[in-house]
Amino acid sequence: MNIIKLSDSVINQIAAGEVVERPASVVKELLENAIDAGASRIELTTAAGGKSLIRIRDNGKGIRQQELKLAVLRHCTSKLTDDLLDIKTLGFRGEALPSIGSIARLKISSRTALSETGWEIVVDNGSLIEPAPSPVNQGTIVEVSDIFIKTPARLKFLKSDRAEASAITDIFKRMALAFPHIHFSASGSDRSSLDYPAGNLITRIGQVLGSEFIDNALKIESEREGIELTGLVGLPTYNRGNALHQYFFVNGRPVRDKQLLGAVRGAYSDFLPYGRHPVLSLFIDLPPNEVDVNVHPAKADVRFRDASLVRGLIVGSIKRAILDAGHRSSTEGGTKMAAAFRPGRPQSRNANHSASDFDKNFSAQWNQFSPQSNNGNLNDYHTNSSFEEASFAPSGQTEIVDGETPSLNSHPLGAARAQLHKNYIVSQTENGLVIVDQHAAHERIVYEAFKKAFDKQLPSQILLIPEIIDLPEEDVDRLVAASDDFSKLGLKLEKFGQGAVAVRETPALLGEVDTKKLVLDLVDELAEWGNSNGLSDRLEYVAATMACHGSVRSGRILKADEMNALLRQMEVTPNSGQCNHGRPTWVELDLKDIERLFGR
Ligand code: ADP
Ligand code: MG
Repeated sequence: MNIIKLSDSVINQIAAGEVVERPASVVKELLENAIDAGASRIELTTAAGGKSLIRIRDNGKGIRQQELKLAVLRHCTSKLTDDLLDIKTLGFRGEALPSIGSIARLKISSRTALSETGWEIVVDNGSLIEPAPSPVNQGTIVEVSDIFIKTPARLKFLKSDRAEASAITDIFKRMALAFPHIHFSASGSDRSSLDYPAGNLITRIGQVLGSEFIDNALKIESEREGIELTGLVGLPTYNRGNALHQYFFVNGRPVRDKQLLGAVRGAYSDFLPYGRHPVLSLFIDLPPNEVDVNVHPAKADVRFRDASLVRGLIVGSIKRAILDAGHRSSTEGGTKMAAAFRPGRPQSRNANHSASDFDKNFSAQWNQFSPQSNNGNLNDYHTNSSFEEASFAPSGQTEIVDGETPSLNSHPLGAARAQLHKNYIVSQTENGLVIVDQHAAHERIVYEAFKKAFDKQLPSQILLIPEIIDLPEEDVDRLVAASDDFSKLGLKLEKFGQGAVAVRETPALLGEVDTKKLVLDLVDELAEWGNSNGLSDRLEYVAATMACHGSVRSGRILKADEMNALLRQMEVTPNSGQCNHGRPTWVELDLKDIERLFGR
């Protein structure tokens, strides 16, 4: 066996395997170079998702003629520093250009301020073409065409043009957010054009995430042990179907890191269900020796020295901001009318005694929880099955409540006046009217009740006939492993032979519930989260899932005292301004606004 040294072109190709995963990674490297060159204007052009063309033009300091050849040589960099912990530039490895040149045709045209003419150099899939004069303005144009054309195996792994184009857009947006004082634009046959003139951070966030986001975002500004967290986080009601609209920056670099995504998920866990994700832009600044942002050249992972401190700061700051915002919920889709309907005012006047009221109310609810006691309490939803027939209003649609109940008007959520479309409670308050989504409101109340009782034993309802549910063995194991937690919440189940569980009792709070559906949802929950989460985290998800099952369905006709009971319960329930799915549970219209609507 002979040991030989690999040729430069092979070494470059191996490096390219790490640096250049897909067109978006090329874009990331080239944008970084343009930023490092001090550009104030950067233009990106792509075609076919970057597969056939990526071109980046900047007005930075340019590359001198005699250095063009060095720029495309491996481990050649102008950004050298002896202290890898103290890197002020985005690049420092001197790896990007040679790697890109080894797997595509790379053309660099550049001119410095002092040079009479520009020069260009080409590296075509590893072979260098000598520099030649080129008529360009000051700055640099880097053109990468036909990526992976000589390595069809890697070309095959790329996704559709559309998917690659959107990965490029994602990187572009992250970079643009990190450097708001640079004018960024993007265009090409594979995309709709983007143009972000230079501005400050807030204007840039507005350009990238939309001005609606700014209207629906909360400001974060906190600090703990030298770690600073700033940025804007969206209200829970302003949510999305994926986590792509979450932007993180560590010491000014865009990163996309599992721990950070996880911390955000934790922060919003009380306010958002599965499948919905907040929108945010968060900047973490910390001493360089507290973090390693260069774990891998292509990956955006970071390594924090004290990861739990960072997590705690993120979770704590976001939760506090949301709680401080109280009942403010999304203004999205606001017309003049909808704008007049405000999500209710914060319940500050209740704030100092709400916890104890909640406790009282809560235990009262339990004490009354028996099929015999039907006194207009919220429990009637579950225990009195006859009220549905009994309370049909003449129209079959609307329960109208006659007469004045002035004492109730003074409650924040007022006195129930009518139920519309079997789901909306209209109530009269001192200064206007409130409309409540009864399904959403009840879901929130049940969820908070569950959470409140995590450290107690919640009552259960014994099923006359245990429900046997067939499941894959691994799901059975998961359920059984979590059965102690479930039991606390009132759900009692046990293994029932091979591949089945028997459910014997269900949480009383849920009333009648589709047991099988509930258990299957819980299984999904457990499978997704595994055992990695702490008990309390997991309980919250379990509670949210359960609450969803037990909620008063829309379509239930309620009597006046039932409606009022629901309103009173909402007033003492924390975070009752929105349901677990982040939708508002009630909106308020002020008398002044009503008058304004009618032009009075
Ligand atoms: P690194 O960025 O790690 O130094 P690269 O391979 O990305 O390595 O770039 C090599 C060198 O080429 C850089 O150090 C820089 O001097 C020069 N360079 C690359 N792109 C530009 C640009 N757009 N403007 C000016 N100089 C550039
Ligand atoms: Mg670079």
